[in-house]
Amino acid sequence: MSVPEPFENVFRDALERQRAQGLYRALTPLENAPSKFVTRAVEGRPTRCLNFASNNYLDLAGHPLLRRRAAEALERAGAGSGGSRLLGGDLPLHAELEAALERYRPTMPGVSGESELRSRALLFNTGFQANYTLISALGEALGCVFADKLAHASVAEGLRVLPGPFHRFRHNDTEHLENLLRKHQPREGGLVVTETLFSMDGDFAPLEELCALQRKYGFWMLLDEAHSTGGYPGLHGRGLQGISERTILMGTFGKALGSFGAYVAGPPEIREYLVNFGRGLIYSTSLPPAVLGANLGALEALADPGEAWRAEALRKVSAFARETLKRRGFDTGASASRSHIVPVLLGTPENALRISEALARAGFHAPAVRPPTVPAGTSRLRLNLTAAFEEKDILDFVQALEKAC
Ligand SMILES: *Cc1c(COP(=O)(O)O)cnc(C)c1O
Repeated sequence: MSVPEPFENVFRDALERQRAQGLYRALTPLENAPSKFVTRAVEGRPTRCLNFASNNYLDLAGHPLLRRRAAEALERAGAGSGGSRLLGGDLPLHAELEAALERYRPTMPGVSGESELRSRALLFNTGFQANYTLISALGEALGCVFADKLAHASVAEGLRVLPGPFHRFRHNDTEHLENLLRKHQPREGGLVVTETLFSMDGDFAPLEELCALQRKYGFWMLLDEAHSTGGYPGLHGRGLQGISERTILMGTFGKALGSFGAYVAGPPEIREYLVNFGRGLIYSTSLPPAVLGANLGALEALADPGEAWRAEALRKVSAFARETLKRRGFDTGASASRSHIVPVLLGTPENALRISEALARAGFHAPAVRPPTVPAGTSRLRLNLTAAFEEKDILDFVQALEKAC
């Protein structure tokens, strides 16, 4: 038997195809990330760039309180947790953080009106792991999953390992969702999955309509709040009327909260079910003390009225960026008026890449986002604003963008 080709060709060929399609990806180390200014190599030279790529929306990552809580926890409890939650790695700090989450949003789903039914929180190591675990574990129990077409890659991964059926509905199209629900009628109600604030377009899910459908069809709903955690107090807690007890939230600490990790919040039996059947929880080492400490610090900062300026500054500068870009004729797609994610649609991957590279030379780090992360023909710069940005930063950027186009 002969060996026809060196086996590495499989990888080399795939990479060459990737390059030919303008989709090749490489890592770009950023000194000082996730701050407003980072230093990165541009054509071999270290260059200081205004950073439009950070999810550190509330600029909490470097906050003294988070640093202090992380350092205290590390000092007290050491570097690692020593195991999974179920086998040796369940620290008092995990319970402390879960209790803080439940206090942070006592009116998360599970509470209707004055009801005593409290929602319970359960930590996960990452949002990716939480989505993957929830969809595969709950989707099986609930008979069928219906997911928005633009939901995050971790949702798609959960669907891939789901032993039961699933359907994707057109982005934010509740009519399409209703048609699918009528057609498939899952006996156990099914699970509907969507993001509250979409990560690539910066638009919101139609939550009121989804809740109305939920009342009619009785499905469970998983809302991925990765990009809205911390940014929109009141949107899903006090603000959203009539949210059903069959709603589960997934939030992350890695974005607006400036740290790392994720949580799931929902009715107590969901927590219990995941502890028993959630493979991503059962078979993975739990979050370590320093991370738990930082996360506690982040919740403490959110609860501090002295820090409320952050969400306000973020909203203001985001609106300014969107309005300025639109006025100068750029296509910001579906980005909603309260959103801190502002895409600039540029069409082909080559175009997006060329403009992103020109901007880097001018001192702006605004990476190109290309398929398969976004649909073909919608390659873009995805601008993330943070509470640290000022109007002047936006004006400088738009000027450089005009030059680069
Ligand atoms: C970032 C993100 C996740 C994953 O969260 P991590 O904690 O970074 O793994 C999940 N869903 C959405 C919509 C995200 O943007």
